Amino acid sequence: MPSTDTLKEADRLMTICNACRYCEGFCAVFPAMERRRLFSLGDLTFLANLCHGCNGCYHTCQYAPPHEFDVNVPKIFAALRVETYAQYAWPGFLARAFHRNGLFVSLAVALALALLLVLTFTLQDASVLFGEHSGTGAFYAVIPYDAMVWPFGLVFGFAIFAMIAGGVRYWRDTAGRSGAKLSLRAVLGGVRDVLTLKNLGGGGGGCTYPDENFSYARRNFHHFTFYGFMLCFAATSLATIYHHGFGWIAPYSFTSAPVILGTLGGIGLLIGPAGLLWLKAKAEPAPLARDLLGMDVALLVLLFAIALTGLALLVLRETSAMGTLLSVHLGFVMALFATLPYGKMVHGVYRFLALVQDAAEDKPLR
Ligand code: SF4
Ligand code: SF4
Repeated sequence: MPSTDTLKEADRLMTICNACRYCEGFCAVFPAMERRRLFSLGDLTFLANLCHGCNGCYHTCQYAPPHEFDVNVPKIFAALRVETYAQYAWPGFLARAFHRNGLFVSLAVALALALLLVLTFTLQDASVLFGEHSGTGAFYAVIPYDAMVWPFGLVFGFAIFAMIAGGVRYWRDTAGRSGAKLSLRAVLGGVRDVLTLKNLGGGGGGCTYPDENFSYARRNFHHFTFYGFMLCFAATSLATIYHHGFGWIAPYSFTSAPVILGTLGGIGLLIGPAGLLWLKAKAEPAPLARDLLGMDVALLVLLFAIALTGLALLVLRETSAMGTLLSVHLGFVMALFATLPYGKMVHGVYRFLALVQDAAEDKPLR
């Protein structure tokens, strides 16, 4: 349950904004707010997760600090989002991972790396680990296929289940209580908004991030990150089909579809997270929530490390560095999978559901 102070402050700000309405053209939050007269817990949770943290309403607000009204919508919504992530975490006792999340993700990375390195270095013969391998099954000479696929498949499967469980409970408390009807049109609307990041366009001309000047930089770097991740996911899925459907065993040639998709995805995951970290370093601190900042940085650094080690593995796969690089890369991937439901990645679930709810609401005044 979000803290009473956070909810009270979010309620106070929405009441002021609903009287002012100056920002109604900036994003989906303000039109959704205008469909309400009172703000329940579910309403505030929905609005907080609909907010993309573009800071547009902070930089233009005549009541922002130092005004006595102290209106800072991005900051209070960011704080409420962190509390949403903890509230709907499954299983519940892991909700604590969202507090000091940077530390939690760092520990998960250290543990996964140590585990992979200790296991490969103790179980594998040095001549194999540091030998040069090429041709069919080269990776599996270092780490056997079953030892690679089963632990990763189980951890990934658990992560997806945990995220779906959180999403279902979130939906019940937000859209379920507001009476929004789920429909194909609403889902397609949500998908379109995710794919285009329409709400990071501000009212046109981009959003005021990292400073008060309008820019598309955040939207573009987020696109690199999102599509880079999806390309890497497509590459892995295609490689699985190659392996099980056709019996074609990795590593694949540089001109094969999985390698081309993975290379493009890896480049996207270098550019996107690096760009977003650069923007964060320059961003004005006043509209930022401290807990969310640590969470953002932890995920971006992890994605960057996965891309860097993945591309290095591609380039050096026929050298004696392959065994060590493979272990390190898989360690980072394992840390990502294990922290998927307990880190910033969950914003994708709740943001998508908020966008679907926004499209689903039939816009009655309540
Ligand atoms: S953020 Fe400020 S300017 Fe925008 S609607 Fe709220 S009170 Fe008005
Ligand atoms: S920070 Fe941006 S997305 Fe969030 S409410 Fe303000 S204008 Fe909308």
